[in-house]
Amino acid sequence: LARNPGEAEFHQAVREVFDSLGPVIRKHSQYADAAVLQRVCEPERQIIFRVPWVDDHNQVQINRAFRVEFNSALGPFKGGMRFHPSVYLGIVKFLGFEQIFKNALTGMPIGGAKGGSDFDPRGKTEGEVMRFCQSLMTELYRHIGEYTDVPAGDIGVGGREIGYMFGQYKRITNRYESGVLTGKGLTWGGSLVRTEATGFGTVLFAERMLATAGQSLDGLRVSVSGSGNVATYAIAKAQDQGARVVAFSDSSGYVVDEAGVDVDLLREVKEVERGRVSDYADRRGSAKFVEGGRIWDVPVEVALPCATQNELTVDDVRGLVGHGLVAVAEGANMPTTPDAVALLQEAGVLFAPGKAANAGGVATSALEMQQNASRDSWTFAHTEDRLAEIMIGIHDRCAETAEEYGQPGNYVLGANVAGFTKVADAMLALGVI
Ligand code: NDP
Repeated sequence: LARNPGEAEFHQAVREVFDSLGPVIRKHSQYADAAVLQRVCEPERQIIFRVPWVDDHNQVQINRAFRVEFNSALGPFKGGMRFHPSVYLGIVKFLGFEQIFKNALTGMPIGGAKGGSDFDPRGKTEGEVMRFCQSLMTELYRHIGEYTDVPAGDIGVGGREIGYMFGQYKRITNRYESGVLTGKGLTWGGSLVRTEATGFGTVLFAERMLATAGQSLDGLRVSVSGSGNVATYAIAKAQDQGARVVAFSDSSGYVVDEAGVDVDLLREVKEVERGRVSDYADRRGSAKFVEGGRIWDVPVEVALPCATQNELTVDDVRGLVGHGLVAVAEGANMPTTPDAVALLQEAGVLFAPGKAANAGGVATSALEMQQNASRDSWTFAHTEDRLAEIMIGIHDRCAETAEEYGQPGNYVLGANVAGFTKVADAMLALGVI
């Protein structure tokens, strides 16, 4: 704590992982002997830089940007960039730390990193977003590369922003290095299914988890917080599997749609018009917008938090459990507060932590890198099959590890231990570096 003052989210993420590791450290003394715990929570490299850009009124604007290259024992650094006014070092470090274990769980050869900026894309024009992305890449380009560090999207960074950053990287380096960024557009090196992957993967994980308890998503009521990339495709997949998604949200409130979400309309409003969830409600008779409301007040059997960190609290969980909650799968990173996780586990609710449940996005990014490296592009069906295989693999690895350590059904322990041991073993093999 003293080494990293004021980084509350980072402390929370480290504590969450370390709380699971007691039995591992007792069983494998080599981790303690080689100071693996101390090393794994110290980033290999942290970059903080100024991003100056000129807005549409000819005013100079200054933002701050970060890239925290946390751990490259398993492969090149890999993790998204987040553009949101709340971004500071503590958020980037929590995300980067989580990313190490998530990437390890996928079984793909990728290390962990994360980056971002306190830039707020909301309300900015196309030209402003482009100039910001270009300025950011004018510094970031020297730190990244196919074999060093491969950024992707996160909150506030989608295909448009990746495009502007990739364009600037290509211009500065004079290299068409497709594998330097993932989440690219389909006509310039992107992969089918990458857009859908995190949301789809979260639902695939939830289904597998429900199946181990003899249940299924079919016919269940579901709520999905957020209405961005992860939320939209979690909604689509859950409804494909026969669930009825009755609520979704943004930072201004939530929409209840008892008829089930019209995914085409949601995509039109969010992806084409860049509108708000209230615009969806205005155009759909069965939907109601609750301004400033909490989505978790809506009674459901399955909750999929897909917006941001610490959005599902112990009070929310109390209410949901009272209404018959069966399962929670985290599409977002660390959306459930620690006391809310504890209450879910006590109440016997199935709980899938984000580092396992939302790993489908980064796994598909690794598939994008594979396609780039072989100058190939795969079909939707093939890529989706690979994603499904990977999600089942992650689920089963977490479940088996939890059993091995005497806590069957504890996916938090399973994910933390399975992810940690994979990275720790590689770190031991590579020596004290
Ligand atoms: P988007 O920017 O596409 O969407 C974010 C959504 O969450 C928006 O609806 C936004 O509402 C809402 N939101 C963001 N911040 C807040 C906040 N402080 N309070 C309330 N609502 C908020 O991001 P993504 O869908 O890509 O990411 C969502 C989550 O999933 C994040 O935790 C991210 O780290 C995680 N994730 C994403 C992956 C990906 O592949 N994209 C991969 C793995 C995890 P508004 O528009 O009003 O701000």
